[in-house]
Amino acid sequence: MDDQQGLIWFGNLEEVAKKSLDYLKKKDSFLKILSWGVDYSIWPAHLMTSCCGAELAAASGPRFDLERLGFLPFGSPRQTNLILVEGTTTIKMARVVKRSWEQMPSPKWVIAMGACAMDGGIFFDSYNTIVVRDYLPVDVYVPGCPPRPEALAQAVLMLQEKIKRQRQDLIKTVD
Ligand code: SF4
Repeated sequence: MDDQQGLIWFGNLEEVAKKSLDYLKKKDSFLKILSWGVDYSIWPAHLMTSCCGAELAAASGPRFDLERLGFLPFGSPRQTNLILVEGTTTIKMARVVKRSWEQMPSPKWVIAMGACAMDGGIFFDSYNTIVVRDYLPVDVYVPGCPPRPEALAQAVLMLQEKIKRQRQDLIKTVD
């Protein structure tokens, strides 16, 4: 009810909202808009695990400008939906990365960047390091030592493609 305007809303608003949502979910355009919104809101947690982080910095600069793809690092895990692991993670640092991942809302994704994140790289079989797949579900791998910023841009595009394919699953999270 709006006292100023004298408007009164009748009916069960919760039921009306549910019926509207059910109707929209059947419309392909609604799915496309939702998917587009998620695709272009890839917000990684601002974590630097190793030297590949310099390439992330370059990718965020004006020459490569990943923000044009909706890729924008945030300081708090609670406002993010992507963990980007840049290279090596020590076992000690992996605990911090895992805790950040657990604080992030769903849906969320993981990109493992660099040879060290994929299989250990130059730290292969080291006593104090761990590869990303052993503590997080990786969506996209970016090979190289270090990978170029273009490779990171390609990984973001591939992740967007994956999100499009998961469109139906995303709709279920709206319920
Ligand atoms: S892949 Fe190369 S650049 Fe990246 S963290 Fe490992 S050693 Fe450093």
